[in-house]
Amino acid sequence: MNYYIQQALPAFFGLRYITMAKVIIRNVAYDYKTLKPAFFELFDAVAGGMVKRGSRVLIKPNLLAPASPDKAIVTHPLIIRAAAEYVLDKGALPVISDSPATGSFEKILMESGIKSALEGLKVEFSAFRKSVSVEIGKPFGKIEIAEDAMNAELFINLPKLKTHSQMLLTLGVKNLFGCIVGMKKPEWHLRAGTDREMFARLLVRIYQAVKPSVTIIDGILAMEGQGPGRSGEPREIGIIAGSQDAASLDIALCRMLGINPEELLTNKIVIEDGIADKEFEIEGVVPEIRDFKFPEMSSGMFGPKRFHKFIRTHLTQRPVCSDKKCKLCGECWKYCPAGAISHSKKRIDFNYDKCIRCYCCIEVCPHGALRTDQTMPGKIIRKCLKM
Ligand code: SF4
Ligand code: SF4
Repeated sequence: MNYYIQQALPAFFGLRYITMAKVIIRNVAYDYKTLKPAFFELFDAVAGGMVKRGSRVLIKPNLLAPASPDKAIVTHPLIIRAAAEYVLDKGALPVISDSPATGSFEKILMESGIKSALEGLKVEFSAFRKSVSVEIGKPFGKIEIAEDAMNAELFINLPKLKTHSQMLLTLGVKNLFGCIVGMKKPEWHLRAGTDREMFARLLVRIYQAVKPSVTIIDGILAMEGQGPGRSGEPREIGIIAGSQDAASLDIALCRMLGINPEELLTNKIVIEDGIADKEFEIEGVVPEIRDFKFPEMSSGMFGPKRFHKFIRTHLTQRPVCSDKKCKLCGECWKYCPAGAISHSKKRIDFNYDKCIRCYCCIEVCPHGALRTDQTMPGKIIRKCLKM
């Protein structure tokens, strides 16, 4: 259906046209000759007519850290190129933006091959810097979100399909946490503490505030295992998938990976709160993946609140460091929201009483020196309870 009939006309008359969300999946590889037409066709099918001539279009990939594309840590440069070319083809200006967790924006563009992949195209690169205060409702109140993200004429969300040690997966909704600028990110991790459901709720509220116009995920070379940083392992899946509704897209991808979508807590919240429907139209061949390696995760907090500190300290998986791999670069202790990492000239040390188990340190370590490990009592209890 024409976009204007579907969206603009009802909005003009103050009506909300209810349509079932649509998720489109295409099987492709990083061969630009075939990737570009597949990406264009998918964009047209998902959101044809949305990019207006003369507009500035914000493109937000996952630029977690400087890493070559074969590590599957960042959205592949060819996907970013295809999105930029699509926008240019419609007579608009693409602006590539993000606020990386670690490393400078410029360094990520260079080391991840994005600058060279986009060479010759009329594209702007602009890291998120300024924030605006946005009310996102209880219990969070006001949060600072990148001004460019809030004011974008059109927002194209380009996540990478990856596992996430704290949240299970990072897909369309989680990618928008990158709209929180710089060191404000760890502050919000600290506020959510060990409560993963609270953090998932925060992610959903950010998603609702930013409202990306279209989300197209790079699942050609995905990441499994202890993602989303260097401890994860690249895994070929061979798809791109898009939707106007990032939440429905996330639900579809969880099904593709063989799990109950509500295991991803952001999905559970969007379903409970009626933000997304479990049912949506799906088009394309969905690969059946039954052996995807999810991160080893602790089951979170349970039991009476007064035992939570004990459970966190003694039973929940903790970050550990390989002294052999650690280069004492300082990224982890600079980023740690709880100030739980100290260092000497020889090694780093964790204060597990202070650590809130957000696993940000693992995410930002550029040398893959950190991983999660079960505590001994945790292992025994989990074995007994078959958790
Ligand atoms: S653990 Fe990683 S991030 Fe931390 S100091 Fe060592 S190399 Fe750097
Ligand atoms: S030590 Fe790592 S897991 Fe613990 S609070 Fe700091 S960043 Fe988070």
